[in-house]
Amino acid sequence: MFALALALVTFAMSAAPAEAEGKQTRKRVAIAASAKTSSDAPKRDRSIGAPWSGRLQAPARLRGGDGYHIRRPWRTYATRTTVAFVKEAIDDTLDAFPKAHVLAIGDLSQEAGGWISEHASHQSGRDVDIGLFFKKKPEGYPAKFIRATSTTLDAAATWKLVSSFARTQDDDGGAQFIFLDERLQHVLVSWAEKNKVSEKRIRQVQRVLRHEPNHADHIHVRFKCRDRDTSCR
Ligand SMILES: [Zn+2]
Repeated sequence: MFALALALVTFAMSAAPAEAEGKQTRKRVAIAASAKTSSDAPKRDRSIGAPWSGRLQAPARLRGGDGYHIRRPWRTYATRTTVAFVKEAIDDTLDAFPKAHVLAIGDLSQEAGGWISEHASHQSGRDVDIGLFFKKKPEGYPAKFIRATSTTLDAAATWKLVSSFARTQDDDGGAQFIFLDERLQHVLVSWAEKNKVSEKRIRQVQRVLRHEPNHADHIHVRFKCRDRDTSCR
């Protein structure tokens, strides 16, 4: 636990330099997220198997908080690392966009992992679905995910969310892929280019973005296996 917290703090500090899209105000949320869950999980958390055929042991849980709406609280389990990265990306984005509308948080995994309806993956605590930001909050959102178009998407806030995940890609258990419809990827990257985000940062985001059908209403972030999860695939 302490080692994880320490690793995340080190990571947070190393990722501190300001970027064109706005000042970084990284908080030590990772520590809070892991500390809060320690009492529910006596055993060490483990991700076992593959996201499409796996399970989860002694998981952490993403709790509700200001600025985001958890759609199905019984599906918010994941590894501590996944939960900490998710919480941190949400908080970084909401800090940078305090006037953004509430953000819809979809499924992570069930408490013991395993098969979960409406998903091919989300079985081993390494996946999360998160809604998008819109220029004007659409009707039905955040209870439901709503499809975005190039005109309705709030590209600035959504870019911030995606890049907050992308910056974890070299960390143990960091983001491996961010699935998003390619048309919306294009909207985000065009926004970043027009707004003088560095080429390095844009490439970092593009390295993890992957097109996936039916992902025009949310992003799906897949996290890597952690080094210590030896039966994670
Ligand atoms: Zn998903």
